Amino acid sequence: MTVLAGPTAVGKGTVSTYIRDHFPQVWLSVSATTRPPRPGEQHGVHYFFLTPERFDELVATGQMLEWAVVHGRHRYGTPRPAVEAALAQGRSVLLEIDLQGARQVRDAMPEASFVFLAPPTWDEMVRRLIGRGTETADEQRHRLETARLELAAEPEFDHTVINDRVERAAAELVSLMGLPAR
Ligand code: 5GP
Repeated sequence: MTVLAGPTAVGKGTVSTYIRDHFPQVWLSVSATTRPPRPGEQHGVHYFFLTPERFDELVATGQMLEWAVVHGRHRYGTPRPAVEAALAQGRSVLLEIDLQGARQVRDAMPEASFVFLAPPTWDEMVRRLIGRGTETADEQRHRLETARLELAAEPEFDHTVINDRVERAAAELVSLMGLPAR
């Protein structure tokens, strides 16, 4: 099992979407979240969009492998049963989660491989965050502050992949997973 984490707005979502679309040999976990869907996002494909009550229920019954409040607002978590089923089938499992979640998985599954996705430069990361335009100015400030702290976590990881180009970064990640990156 491989865990991909890294600072906010580094492009984790873009890399994991690329992997979902181009590398069917990777089993990408679909996270649960309490945040509302963005335009084009589908329940069960991009996330399982849950009510806070339903999310609580899954946490209380031990069905979240990890979960965290991300950017001080919504909750995100990895549904445990699907991951365990995929591992039992011998699939190459990839989780794309935030740093808090990655730390929880490291405690629960220290044998997993932890990959840090890094921005080419800090300026590039700021540009990507502002460029996305889906957050308010307050949210952007909060995300940047989080990102600054998160960059310092790189030494906790087994590998670093620089997200200079999504195709290249995805191929490097897939080959780190021991799969052919055609
Ligand atoms: P977004 O709302 O932009 O889709 O995602 C916000 C953040 O939530 C990203 O940093 C992403 O890595 C993180 N995230 C997505 N799914 C999970 C999850 O299952 N667990 C944790 N801990 N973080 C997640």
